[in-house]
Amino acid sequence: MNKFEVKAYGTLAADAPLNEMNISRREVLENDIEIEILYCGVCHSDLHTARNDWGGTVYPAVPGHEIVGKVTKVGNAVTKVKVGDFAGVGCLVDSCRVCESCKQDLEQYCATGIIGTYNGRDKHLGGQTFGGYSDKIVVDEHFVLKVPANLNLAAVAPLLCAGITTWSPLRHWNVRKGSKVAVVGLGGLGHMAIKLAKGLGAEVTLFSRTSDKTKDALELGADAVVISTDGEQMNTVRGKFDLIIDTVPTIHDVNPYVATLNLNGTLVLVGYLGGLEPILNTVPLILGRKSIAGSLIGGIAETQEMLDFCGEHNIVSEIEVIKMQEINEAYERMLRSDVRYRFVIDMASLRS
Ligand code: NAP
Ligand code: ZN
Ligand code: ZN
Repeated sequence: MNKFEVKAYGTLAADAPLNEMNISRREVLENDIEIEILYCGVCHSDLHTARNDWGGTVYPAVPGHEIVGKVTKVGNAVTKVKVGDFAGVGCLVDSCRVCESCKQDLEQYCATGIIGTYNGRDKHLGGQTFGGYSDKIVVDEHFVLKVPANLNLAAVAPLLCAGITTWSPLRHWNVRKGSKVAVVGLGGLGHMAIKLAKGLGAEVTLFSRTSDKTKDALELGADAVVISTDGEQMNTVRGKFDLIIDTVPTIHDVNPYVATLNLNGTLVLVGYLGGLEPILNTVPLILGRKSIAGSLIGGIAETQEMLDFCGEHNIVSEIEVIKMQEINEAYERMLRSDVRYRFVIDMASLRS
């Protein structure tokens, strides 16, 4: 397989900082698109992967799955974009395309396992896939997204993961005008959940741990903010919500949020992966026909639907642009929830 080297930023071990390195990309095949990466968002999953929080990270690891850039080369069979177009790549770069999930445009639930943009199995070059903290990426056109031309490109990048991860449950649970939605945690995913739920016409409440972000949340479109550490405030929203999107990245008590679900309400976990503690009490679930669910990113068609919706409604992420060389400090700030509300790397800094 013909390949070429590109500059990237990655890590060699869970406890090592990210640093400059070279990685290989394949030369475009028939259906491939080569993209010069202009901006890449910084997702909390990048940090979880770099530090092996979930186990299974293969090193060197090059994170980044909120990718936007310019098409620099296309294979002979490509029809989706042409050289010079702007394009996006999210969390997926391949799947089997034939299983029941893939046939339903739910590639994220591919029965044979998805091929993530990073730390996936690179079936072309062998080894692991490398993400968007790099100069260029080569991706099959099925997994490339068209980017709305009217939006700020850097602020579009986070839509490719934070946007679709919150859009998919909003759509699956049929959020519409008048729905009562709550969002737990105001970070990258949380702030997109507020904007997208508002865009769909919902009444939106933010649960945050302190009042530090109240003003921002209201400016982002939230109708109310409830401080989750204040029992009295939590009582005022008992039985209120049709859908709660919980973006908290670490183990936490979900029972207080269940109490705020309406009859038939659902709490969707999108942040934390693993066993819950304290133990989940089923009594309110049974007595109120409530559900606890999970949701993983979104399929390619649904990602395009979300991007088009954002184009029509002028929705983008609130970003702080950083240089590639600032990524280690950005991770530390992310751990302190000191992000307003998504870091986006200007990839020109890697090339300079
Ligand atoms: P983020 O920007 O760091 O935001 C997380 C927010 O959660 C924080 O801003 C904070 O909000 C709140 N929080 C943090 N620690 C908390 C704690 N101990 N208890 C309660 N609240 C806490 O992260 P992100 O990029 O939005 O990602 C969130 C999670 O989603 C990560 O675990 C990521 O891996 C995961 N993720 C999942 C998918 C999926 O497909 N399901 C896709 C992308 C990301 P407040 O300050 O307002 O409390
Ligand atoms: Zn992500
Ligand atoms: Zn499949």
